[in-house]
Amino acid sequence: MARYVGSVCRLCRRENQKLFLKGDRCNTDKCAFERRAYPPGQHGQGRIKFSEYGLQLREKQKIKRMYGLVEKQFRSLFEKAERMKGVTGTNLLTMLERRLDNVAYRSGFANSRSEARQLIRHGHFAINGQRVNIPSFLVKKGDSVEIREKSKSVARIHGALEAVKRREIPQWLELDGTAMKSRVRDLPARDDLTMPMEERMVVELYSK
Ligand code: SF4
Repeated sequence: MARYVGSVCRLCRRENQKLFLKGDRCNTDKCAFERRAYPPGQHGQGRIKFSEYGLQLREKQKIKRMYGLVEKQFRSLFEKAERMKGVTGTNLLTMLERRLDNVAYRSGFANSRSEARQLIRHGHFAINGQRVNIPSFLVKKGDSVEIREKSKSVARIHGALEAVKRREIPQWLELDGTAMKSRVRDLPARDDLTMPMEERMVVELYSK
């Protein structure tokens, strides 16, 4: 699977919003967006006027980049959301939140979704006692996401659990830091997602 290997701070600057892709650094004054809150590149400080299509495209790119997906993954999740009952945009965001890499990050087992993906692929996680190494795995209500016994001494995970004290854990998750276990209390609702996202624009873009 192709992946973006450039500077992630450029992505925040491009989308004109902090996407929190670099863990603890995002909350310090070293944050590139805090220092240069304009798009990257030679013409970044010029006047930019977006068309309707441009605005929809930027919104889609922003959400996709926030969750660290490539176009193919994002599009296929969107098609799945379309086939589900309910509002497509809300279904899409809910599924993005239910991804194991997001749950691991939100619970505080990793400092960012990309770090969570790496830890998952390295086999440090179990769901309901079963080893799972697929970052796109969708958790269900009542699932228990835990660090496997043999991985409980991994320093990066301990560091992330310390850092999570400085940010909020969403209400739909319940973390037991000592047991290194997180329980999915409920499926995330639209109101649980506090980052500014206009999923309606993604639906409009893909419906063209
Ligand atoms: Fe974005 Fe974090 Fe980089 Fe700031 S430090 S620009 S929030 S990735």
